[in-house]
Amino acid sequence: MNGLREHLLRRITANGPITLADYMSECLLHPKSGYYATRDPLGAAGDFITAPEVSQMFGELIGLSLAQNWMDQGAPTPFILAEAGPGRGTLMADVLRATRTIPGFHDAMELHLIEISEPLKLRQRQTIARGDITWHDNLSSLPDLPLFLIANEFFDALPIRQFQRDGNSWRERQVGILEEDLALGLSDPMAPSQLEHRLEDTKPGDIVEFCPSGALAAEVIGAHITQQGGSALIVDYGDWRSLGDTFQALERHVPVDPLANPGQADLTAHVDFEALARATPSRYSRLTPQGVFLERLGITARAQVLAKNLTGDALQSHLAAHRRLTQAEEMGTLFKVLSFYPDGASPPPGLEP
Ligand code: SAH
Repeated sequence: MNGLREHLLRRITANGPITLADYMSECLLHPKSGYYATRDPLGAAGDFITAPEVSQMFGELIGLSLAQNWMDQGAPTPFILAEAGPGRGTLMADVLRATRTIPGFHDAMELHLIEISEPLKLRQRQTIARGDITWHDNLSSLPDLPLFLIANEFFDALPIRQFQRDGNSWRERQVGILEEDLALGLSDPMAPSQLEHRLEDTKPGDIVEFCPSGALAAEVIGAHITQQGGSALIVDYGDWRSLGDTFQALERHVPVDPLANPGQADLTAHVDFEALARATPSRYSRLTPQGVFLERLGITARAQVLAKNLTGDALQSHLAAHRRLTQAEEMGTLFKVLSFYPDGASPPPGLEP
């Protein structure tokens, strides 16, 4: 018996089919039965694993890139160091360790985390182990200070809408009810203004995705950086102008039917980086593969230093982690990095204007 499925069936029976975004929101964020409300989903024993959980090098290099960008912008004091969707806090802990010796950085920093999940907030409190963390439910309550922000695998967790092209209009893919169970269907034709430009590069039958809360988050972050200074590093899987159905569910590292067990699987979609770039009022960098970004920041040299202290299985798993983060057939090209930064500034090291 799945309480969330019963709730969704009642909601749809009463009010009609819901968008995929509504379905994702209910499944991920429902206060009692939502995926993020009820568990820590990361790690080998969880449903998925992320770059900072693969190796400390990821967070270290991100931290040094942001700290260099902070210095390049004149070392504004005070400033906000923020992370959106910090998971277990591993990335932020690695950032803080790597930047400890940057003169003035920690003294000038206020630490802010944007996190919706109560179990993960607890986990972050333990991992980061500092008394001065401020948590936010969303990005709009950050104080008015220069903002240096990291978001790794945050945007892919935000709810998407999907549309299938029909002639020169679109039908939205919706979750309805068929034979007493949840089932995907299509709405009547419509012409959402956000998709006007997608008539250029699609043909009838194609599916495109749009992430309203992702666009909003990009706008809020970009406006903050434009007004206050700072920069954002957004790392995620996806592409420039994504095309096709990328809605997916993972349970214990295995893909499952996203409608099969509401609230029990991680639901994500690829990030459409062009949509984020269109939404931000700030400047943005060239979209760069994660492998290229990490190589430019010196991951190979860092990997060699760490390797000197390792032998046997620990050395093998360190070498595998380096490959996993950078190589094309692993996370090196599927994952990409986009930065927001203000007029007159440069993007953080590792990225080009
Ligand atoms: N950045 C981490 C975790 C990625 S998982 C890492 O790389 O390991 C996604 C994270 O985003 C989790 O912390 C999740 O709880 C958080 N999250 C998902 N949706 C959110 C939302 N709408 N608002 C705030 N945080 C959210």
